[in-house]
Amino acid sequence: MSRKYKILALGAFFVAAVAFWLAAPVQGVPILAYHGVNEQPEPYSIDPADFNAQLRYLAEQGFTAISLQDYFLARQGQRLLPEKPVIITFDDGYEDNYRTALPILEKYRFKATVFIISDAVGQPGYLTWEQIKAMQGRQTEIGSHTAGHVALAETGYQEKSRQFRKSKQVLEQQLGTPVEFLAYPFGSYDADVFPLLQEAGYRGACTGIPGFNRLDQEAFTLRRISVPRPKFGLLEFKLRLIRANIYSRLGI
Ligand SMILES: [Zn+2]
Repeated sequence: MSRKYKILALGAFFVAAVAFWLAAPVQGVPILAYHGVNEQPEPYSIDPADFNAQLRYLAEQGFTAISLQDYFLARQGQRLLPEKPVIITFDDGYEDNYRTALPILEKYRFKATVFIISDAVGQPGYLTWEQIKAMQGRQTEIGSHTAGHVALAETGYQEKSRQFRKSKQVLEQQLGTPVEFLAYPFGSYDADVFPLLQEAGYRGACTGIPGFNRLDQEAFTLRRISVPRPKFGLLEFKLRLIRANIYSRLGI
């Protein structure tokens, strides 16, 4: 074999090895992070048509949407995860989550989790208590996104505690169900938040760090894949999943 063919064969072997490695199932749960679902040209909202295409892709790939509650039951050995689990989350609690996202989620039989800013409920553009209750009755899990959407790493210890406790209390009082999960606004947190979340009665919290979540992932630093408005269609969504997969495999 000539030197040239040896190099080509080696290259082909390398490409095949990487493809095989990427195609093998990941031991972990991807958590997707959305915000608004609308046609406004905001970077963090997503067009309903793009959202629909992403969910259709997940359905075609055989994913089953689970709640954070399901994931935590699996962590405790009380439930088995489906073969390809995914958790679909929304931050901020925008009204279009009810009007636009929910019917699309239901079309694919996907459940979802919405993290509510408790001070913003009922304000223009945000969900009302009635809409939140209606979503709960339609397979939506409700979590906290703090009371006032503060950057926690830049917030004092007492105020952090107040944000965690107040949002949990208000949500539980209004909804009559336990609220045990939280998403950090702006993905901002520091070491102070872990004991404070525990004391306030939370069981898990989501960051903005991409990756998949194994059952032994630290409960208050769950990895989450942000899905902003795509510039390159469905390919961009697939690449975000692949990137999170690589981060998880490399332990980044
Ligand atoms: Zn937010």
